[in-house]
Amino acid sequence: MQPAKPEDLIQGGLLDGMCIVCTGLIRLCSNLNFFSGDFEIRRLLIDRLHCIADDHDHAKAMIDRWLETSPAAPKVFDFMYMAQVTRKREALGSGCDVCHGEPWVLGPNDIVRCGCTYGQALAELDRDRLGRRREGAPLPLVN
Ligand SMILES: [Zn+2]
Ligand SMILES: [Zn+2]
Repeated sequence: MQPAKPEDLIQGGLLDGMCIVCTGLIRLCSNLNFFSGDFEIRRLLIDRLHCIADDHDHAKAMIDRWLETSPAAPKVFDFMYMAQVTRKREALGSGCDVCHGEPWVLGPNDIVRCGCTYGQALAELDRDRLGRRREGAPLPLVN
């Protein structure tokens, strides 16, 4: 097969009724563990990715993130989660001159979240996660 031309990628042509851009993105996952060789399953993945993502930049961010974090191939269920996570990250902004959008900066003793809006938004997410993990645990007597 010919590689997709750049203009095809921008406009998002169709290949066998499937989006070329999303087909290419799903193909990037094909060397992960448990990737299904079944054509119908792959078609479903491509179709779902195309529908769930806000646009192709978002679809790419979702797949990039997946490839960075998971050794196993994504399932349709995972796209919902990835869509949320990548949207949240975009909403956080891109950091300041100190952190340059990196999740951690060097503190006096350890790595810490940055003091800017971005770092503090991440800190907020940390507290969220911790809070959920502690749910159901007895409250400490002293703080
Ligand atoms: Zn698409
Ligand atoms: Zn910062």
